[in-house]
Amino acid sequence: MPRKTRLNRIAEIVTKAHESGRAVPTIVLPCKASPTGEIRLHRATEKSRFPGDVQVTDGRRDGNTWFGAINHRTGNMFVARETPAAITALLVEFNDDPAGVGARLGLSVGSCVFCNRALTTDESKGAGYGPKCAERFDLPWGKATAVADVAEDYVTTVIRPRRLLAERIVEELLLEDGHMRPWETAVDAVERILAGE
Ligand SMILES: [Zn+2]
Repeated sequence: MPRKTRLNRIAEIVTKAHESGRAVPTIVLPCKASPTGEIRLHRATEKSRFPGDVQVTDGRRDGNTWFGAINHRTGNMFVARETPAAITALLVEFNDDPAGVGARLGLSVGSCVFCNRALTTDESKGAGYGPKCAERFDLPWGKATAVADVAEDYVTTVIRPRRLLAERIVEELLLEDGHMRPWETAVDAVERILAGE
């Protein structure tokens, strides 16, 4: 496993959240590979050794496990030696799609991963995070949220195939003269289509 991983999108959204007024933006991702069941990403303060970098830990207040740090300028993450591969993998996945992965993880625990508050409104439950976090962390809000994705998936995987099936059945049942096929052969024809033949 590489000891260096490029996570520039995470660096960007944490920096953006800081610039829009959160002193210490903190993202909490549920993760079974961490001893506490979560990984916590927070922006190092100005007083720290590497201000602005994103520190990745298991979130314990004292004696926490340090998984690594993301350079806020380059996005390069230095990964600590003992960090489980599953944690790096989750960070890469989150970096590739902070809104989508954040929403999925948020919905799985019922709270926003970007502020750790419970998802209460229908809007937030639909999106997987709240409108304020969307604004602060530069995430899509409105149509381009998790709900829209789920609806699109549903259309592609359920509605469209069903429609095609229905069209095939109608085609099979209608004879060229516009009459319906005799009942005795119609049932067999439909069953063949449903069986995928
Ligand atoms: Zn939030």
